[in-house]
Amino acid sequence: MKQKQWIVVRCSACRNCHGSNGNYKKCPHCGNTIGENADIVSTVSSDAELRIEVAIANTPAELRDSLREKLKSTESLVHNSDPHAFTMAKWVHQSADENGEITLQSLSSLIATKNSDISAEDLISMAETQGMLLRIDENRWTLLE
Ligand SMILES: [Zn+2]
Repeated sequence: MKQKQWIVVRCSACRNCHGSNGNYKKCPHCGNTIGENADIVSTVSSDAELRIEVAIANTPAELRDSLREKLKSTESLVHNSDPHAFTMAKWVHQSADENGEITLQSLSSLIATKNSDISAEDLISMAETQGMLLRIDENRWTLLE
């Protein structure tokens, strides 16, 4: 059997990047059909790498290096504490408003009630890495799932 491979594809319609296992489908951001001539940003061999590469591809070039460092440390954190990550995903969902949107403030005030010392910023970057959240404004994210 072939080694598993994932690709990071840039949607030609909305310019957002997403991960794919090579079976071209639709853009998860705008629903545009991803054709065979899609712009392949990078190829990776693990789903952990894929999450990092997708997040990086969706970040302006000047911020990529610092994001990469941050994500690598977040990634190991997530892997070492799966039930924990599940709880945090729940918090992200709980802090969303009726439109499925989240701000640092809404998440911070929720975390404050949970007796946790994680910062809202860390939680958001973790959720972004996992493809759970998409940044729509400087201080606003929307739930993707
Ligand atoms: Zn798109």
